[in-house]
Amino acid sequence: MVLEFDNTFAELGDRFYSPRMPEVSSAPETLWVNEGLARELGVDPEWLHSEEGALFITGNEIPEGADPLAQVYAGHQFGSWVPQLGDGRALLIGEVHDHQGRRLDLQWKGSGRTPYSRRGDGRAPLGPILRELLVSEAMHSLGVPTTRVLATAATGDRVLRQTALPGAVLIRVASSHLRIGTMEYFASREDGDALKTLVEYTLSRHYPEREERHPLALLDEVGQAIAELVAVWQSLGFIHGVMNTDNMLLCGETIDYGPCAFMNEHDPATVFSSIDHRGRYAYGNQPAIAHWNLARLAQALIPAFDPGGDREEYLKGAQGVIDEFPDRYAEAFRDRLAARLGLSEVREGDEELTADLLAQMAESGVDHTLMFRALAERAGPAEGLLPHFEWPEAFGTWLNRWEERVAEDPREPAARQEAMAAVSPVFIPRNHRVEEALEGASEGSWDAFGELWDAVTDPFTYRQDRAHLATPPAPEQRVAATFCGT
Ligand code: AMP
Ligand code: MG
Repeated sequence: MVLEFDNTFAELGDRFYSPRMPEVSSAPETLWVNEGLARELGVDPEWLHSEEGALFITGNEIPEGADPLAQVYAGHQFGSWVPQLGDGRALLIGEVHDHQGRRLDLQWKGSGRTPYSRRGDGRAPLGPILRELLVSEAMHSLGVPTTRVLATAATGDRVLRQTALPGAVLIRVASSHLRIGTMEYFASREDGDALKTLVEYTLSRHYPEREERHPLALLDEVGQAIAELVAVWQSLGFIHGVMNTDNMLLCGETIDYGPCAFMNEHDPATVFSSIDHRGRYAYGNQPAIAHWNLARLAQALIPAFDPGGDREEYLKGAQGVIDEFPDRYAEAFRDRLAARLGLSEVREGDEELTADLLAQMAESGVDHTLMFRALAERAGPAEGLLPHFEWPEAFGTWLNRWEERVAEDPREPAARQEAMAAVSPVFIPRNHRVEEALEGASEGSWDAFGELWDAVTDPFTYRQDRAHLATPPAPEQRVAATFCGT
């Protein structure tokens, strides 16, 4: 194996983590390899399929140079403060560089108990492991900043949930695993020194072009990153489902694919997570929750300042960053939607055009993904999904307005259509197809999984033979809820 580890996080000192080795799995067997990502990391996909590769994926074999550890963090879960969380079923293996020289964390997930497991077993059932693999790579292919999965392996052990399920481990790849909750942990202990160390570390790792190295600069960068992240989620109809502060990375990547799902018909109240009883993390609430989470980060950074000294100045600046968030989000979302509508520049009146469209979509209950793709296909002659899509009658007036508006856009129609099709996917991992793929795989039949993987990792290319994967569920195919699967 050629991975060269270089563990800067481990060098920060052990108040940030507990060193820990994975538990041994009884019969490791590679299940799926993300070949594209393997190549980016300079790892031979064939090796990951080998016996040795399976030992690495499950953590039975510790790679040379790795420094496995469980990171500590805290967080707000569904709005309530939880003073102690941490990697309860994951371990940081170490850091590597990809072919472009980017530093990345490698992490085992499902590799056994750690000091932060509380009552959990540190293990993961196969279903949620495959869901994370499939949906995170779909997100990456859609251009969403996200953690990814390098490979998964069966452990050969059973994991006890409501029933006994096959266990599996995945290797997660992230720009880092530092969370808002990481800062909150040290804030709640009034450990200003640890906060300063983390601020410096996070800025130099994720925002190296930023000259100032103080907490306000970090807050500002994270605010922008989260605004852009949630704007792209919203434009795609992605519902994260568990936007707790321990699931929000400071690098701005999507993490935690437990109860996530893409919505079918456009409805701001959509919730899939089986544990989100009050709809706190409903589709339409995601921007407001991101704002709330950013305020938790602002607060967590306060103990980095002495009460007398610069604290007042920080508070003023931090309030400014928090207040700016809705505008930053709105701008990021506006740009995403303009691209979807084929507008190469934003003009006065465009925001109204977009808002009216979204309101009309919600009222008509039209499929979010198909609707934007149909717009792209309408922009010029194209083979595609239009036969599967019927414009609700109520869209007539809006379509006329849109057609008048694009006629004034400077771009040539063919270029416009191409640009629209490049941001409006044909294939998203629709829940009913994901469930089907996971069910098959858990019975040893990987055809549906492989077919869905091929479609969602090439999401903008229409293919007739995959059209069935692009359409919304028939009433009897609908999946009402997703489960965290811990
Ligand atoms: P999550 O809901 O995945 O964000 O996890 C919340 C917390 O519960 C984190 O600290 C996890 O490490 C921990 N956790 C989740 N599942 C398990 C498990 N099976 N064993 C131990 N800890 C877990
Ligand atoms: Mg989590």
